[in-house]
Amino acid sequence: MDDLVIIGGGPAGLTAGIYAKRARLKTTLFEREMVGGQIALSDVIENYPGFPSISGMELMQRFEEHARGLGLEIVLAEVRDVTFQEEIKVVKTSKGDYPAKAIVVATGARPRRLGVPGEKEFTGKGVSYCATCDGPFFRGRDVMVVGGGDTAIKEAVFLSKLARKVYVAHRRDKLRAEKILQERAFNTENIEFLWSHVLKEIRGEKFVEDVMVEELGTGTLKTVKAEGVFIFVGINPTTDFIDVEKDERGFIKTTARMETSHPGVFAAGDCTTTPLLQVATAVGNGAIAAYEAEKYIEELGA
Ligand code: NAP
Repeated sequence: MDDLVIIGGGPAGLTAGIYAKRARLKTTLFEREMVGGQIALSDVIENYPGFPSISGMELMQRFEEHARGLGLEIVLAEVRDVTFQEEIKVVKTSKGDYPAKAIVVATGARPRRLGVPGEKEFTGKGVSYCATCDGPFFRGRDVMVVGGGDTAIKEAVFLSKLARKVYVAHRRDKLRAEKILQERAFNTENIEFLWSHVLKEIRGEKFVEDVMVEELGTGTLKTVKAEGVFIFVGINPTTDFIDVEKDERGFIKTTARMETSHPGVFAAGDCTTTPLLQVATAVGNGAIAAYEAEKYIEELGA
């Protein structure tokens, strides 16, 4: 039996792994898709201290190498359920059941869908949730970004280097993105903001050809020619598989010690109700979660 099972291989999970291995805990980390998590898809990260500018992929490769170098066992499998048998937690995965004394949930979050007509049909045919992955397909073409948060604005700037024109449709007349990202977008010639506009429909034959947007307040409908539609309207946490206390949107509630409502189950990073979703905060959460898990395991053994 493992001392600790970590679920999720992004910045929070890998940091928990580094701390757990240095504490000499027998630890397994499960990752469903790709070690590194969502941030590995980020073109450039400019706010992780010590790295003024580094690609998400490279930063996460360094995290992974660091964790593996300490002997962290990483298993690529999907965790489907967690059951509790007194003090033992049984992590049920696509590769079997793994009992553990403690768990760190660091499963992060996935992009939220808008739910507009055409979104589902054209996903992978012009509709995308990852500019780094799909941006190069739209070199020299017109694209639309939907949203006004950090992700939308950062990715709009990234896309402006590839696309001919980037429309940013945002439902308000003000962005919530970091000011430094806003300045960059406002100073980019081929980015045009459609303020107080919502996306109504994505249209085309085989691939996206244009979109219909509505101006809020006036109700004016407008067709915009865009062959790519990049949707960045927030995230949904990946937390369905575990029964611990969550908020109304499914983010796991934790104490400052990253404890969840179930003893011995800790949570860290974007899947929690932490007020700031950043690599820097995920790293901090992951370190605390592993440290607290170690203390919990020690107390169990006493
Ligand atoms: P976010 O901060 O929640 O922003 C979502 C954006 O989508 C908001 O502008 C929101 O509009 C808009 N929106 C939400 N629902 C919508 C709908 N139904 N129709 C139209 N627009 C809608 O999400 P995020 O940008 O994905 O960022 C997630 C977290 O990661 C945040 O905590 C963010 O700070 C962090 N992050 C940080 C960086 C960085 O480099 N610092 C980069 C990426 C992400 P309103 O503004 O009107 O609510």
